[in-house]
Amino acid sequence: MSRIKRILVTGGAGFLGSHLCERLVEQEHDVICLDNFFTSQKTNVEHLLAKPNFELVRHDITQPIFLEVDEIYNLACPAAPGHYQYNPIKTMKTSVLGAIHVLGLAKRCRARVLQASTSEVYGDPELHPQPESYRGAVNPVGPRACYDEGKRAAETLFVDYHRHNGVDVRIVRIFNTYGPRMHPFDGRVVSNFIRQALRGEDITIFGDGSQTRSFCYRDDLVEGIIRMMNGSDNFLGPVNLGNPGEFTIRELADLVLELTNTKSKLVERPLPPDDPTRRQPDITLAKKNLDWEPKVPLREGLVKTIEWFQSIRWEDFRAPTPNY
Ligand code: NAD
Ligand code: UDP
Repeated sequence: MSRIKRILVTGGAGFLGSHLCERLVEQEHDVICLDNFFTSQKTNVEHLLAKPNFELVRHDITQPIFLEVDEIYNLACPAAPGHYQYNPIKTMKTSVLGAIHVLGLAKRCRARVLQASTSEVYGDPELHPQPESYRGAVNPVGPRACYDEGKRAAETLFVDYHRHNGVDVRIVRIFNTYGPRMHPFDGRVVSNFIRQALRGEDITIFGDGSQTRSFCYRDDLVEGIIRMMNGSDNFLGPVNLGNPGEFTIRELADLVLELTNTKSKLVERPLPPDDPTRRQPDITLAKKNLDWEPKVPLREGLVKTIEWFQSIRWEDFRAPTPNY
């Protein structure tokens, strides 16, 4: 069995972070989950609180933190457009100051640190599918810039701390991921469609629904993140992690309609500015270096996600922003 490590997960109470914490606790590591609960709630990690190898710290990563750790997964950042656009300056601070603080911590502790970056670094891509070598087409003054440029700046900080200070870094670029424990009011397309379908509300397609996304189930994604952290010493990334299965938003809506057997109707709403028209990961690098590829098809992942949404009480979830 592998050595027990002290692992910090920032954003550890969130959708992906809570699953990551769960996996690391199961592997018997000492896990510190750090979160300011902006887009999550304690219930996501409630089942871990009594474990002797799990600790929850309420902290905002825009402030420095002093800990002793062997590994850091940096996931703290609002991820849904409605959440990150709610306070764009704070979003940028979370990415940039958050990166500086975890990198400083990693430098002092000689810890390996992984950055949860995003397909948004490619912006509205002219190249399809997107390989890691593609430099992207981001509008630096658009409404998504606080997130896209914040994540791009964080990648720069990661590689510069590596080049100049020898910090052991890893970067993963995560493509749209869904699954149980997504915030039901986060405004993302999968949570919106399922919530609307289950409540018999109109299903809101932004634009004509011809834009595409590639949806990865959370278990596949978390497996990829862990493999990257534990991968070879000379593979730092950035590496794309996502499911190459590409769907139009209308196809996703039709699938949700079918799987929920709802009476909801599809309605079109205006397309938000700078909404990327196509998105699909090229995962050649992840296959080669991490021996990783997603296993869960969209239909199967959606069934599990819908079951989870059916099990929750809506009133238990506080909408972090009015934008849902
Ligand atoms: P999420 O909103 O559920 O999780 C983010 C967590 O970070 C939340 O628990 C939130 O409270 C916390 N947080 C936000 N600002 C913070 C701050 N200043 N200090 C401390 N904690 C803070 O979203 P998620 O989908 O789980 O995303 C996790 C990470 O993965 C994010 O960094 C996101 O950018 C990245 N990512 C996710 C996706 C996806 O499709 N889910 C895609 C690309 C990248
Ligand atoms: N979308 C939609 N209806 C919704 C929410 C989102 O049609 O109720 C569209 C959105 O315009 C985008 C896609 O779904 O084209 C994915 O949106 P999401 O916010 O989930 O993620 P991102 O745009 O960051 O990939």
